Amino acid sequence: MLARAIKSRHHPILAHIIPMRRCNLSCSYCNEFDKVSDPVPTVEMLRRVDLLAALGTGIITVSGGEPLLHPELDEIIRAIRSHGAIATIITNGYLLTPERIQRLNRAGLEHLQISIDNVMPDEVSKKSLKVLDRKLEWLAEFAEFDVNINSVLGGGIQNPEDAATITRRALALGFETTVGIIHDRGGQLQPLKNTERAVYEQILKERKPALWAFAYDNLFHKNLTLGQPNDWQCRAGSRYLYVCEDGLVHYCSQQRGYPAIPLERYTREDLEREYSTKKPCAPFCTVSCVHRVAMIDLVREEPREALTRFFPPAMPGAPLELPFGIRVLTSIFLPPENGRPQGMAHKMIASAAMKVLGIK
Ligand code: SF4
Ligand code: SF4
Repeated sequence: MLARAIKSRHHPILAHIIPMRRCNLSCSYCNEFDKVSDPVPTVEMLRRVDLLAALGTGIITVSGGEPLLHPELDEIIRAIRSHGAIATIITNGYLLTPERIQRLNRAGLEHLQISIDNVMPDEVSKKSLKVLDRKLEWLAEFAEFDVNINSVLGGGIQNPEDAATITRRALALGFETTVGIIHDRGGQLQPLKNTERAVYEQILKERKPALWAFAYDNLFHKNLTLGQPNDWQCRAGSRYLYVCEDGLVHYCSQQRGYPAIPLERYTREDLEREYSTKKPCAPFCTVSCVHRVAMIDLVREEPREALTRFFPPAMPGAPLELPFGIRVLTSIFLPPENGRPQGMAHKMIASAAMKVLGIK
């Protein structure tokens, strides 16, 4: 997926599809659910998966509302996999049982994310560690797919320390972890309080993020936790698509209504136009999946600038301190900084590496 995304900008990297807007919970900060809607008919969901695959989409995430409420979620996951795309879901986890997890295994699910908001349920959110802990143990025991536990800060969550407790529990069970900053109802940032920022720093220390997560924190999260804007190009509508329950393509869950074109009429011209459209909501956007997609295009378009921003020097003007693996990749794939021509041996290694990665 990554190699294809880096090779070409002319297809979506990630799409979210909504099989039903109904949710069994009602978190007070959420604007992505209702209490009444029916599931989208499976045949229609399968048609939307086909359309996304025809656009070349690399990852299709089934979201909601609550996707586990859809009676034929497994069929949708199978359809995604049948096209060779990566199948993932975002769920509140309430409906998980050992049997349901094994059905998701059999359907070919590759990644599941649960966002846990607090340790004890309160009036803001019932996505609580106390309620979900048994489900997490079942996931640790039965899931054959990757699991990410996202803890959150901001958005009226009462005890910011809960995010650290949730992260520690997830790490102990062997899951990936991320920390999200809850946006307001317009998808925009509410600056974190000092106590919340302190918890965020503590979590960063404890979870030893993978390189990509480390780079993400440097590029987006650090500014957001300080309430400062980010300078980036949002590629929603091009590299990221949000397909609502009515089958319309929107920028994201927080910018529904733009461009709101039916998926069956969404063309490569639309992808091309939206790649460069400036979104006024970008500086304070907290939609992390769209940030991550933008990082891939930053690497593709301006690899050296991307590295400088992902792994900034400790002091202004100091040389970059790139992790070892990144140094190896840079020396293979990027032309030398001093402008000297590369030798034949270097060119052969780069060519072989690109073949292995499927880039050439
Ligand atoms: S569980 Fe998710 S979709 Fe449901 S109300 Fe809470 S945040 Fe919204
Ligand atoms: S910047 Fe992009 S992802 Fe963020 S809210 Fe705006 S359209 Fe959505």
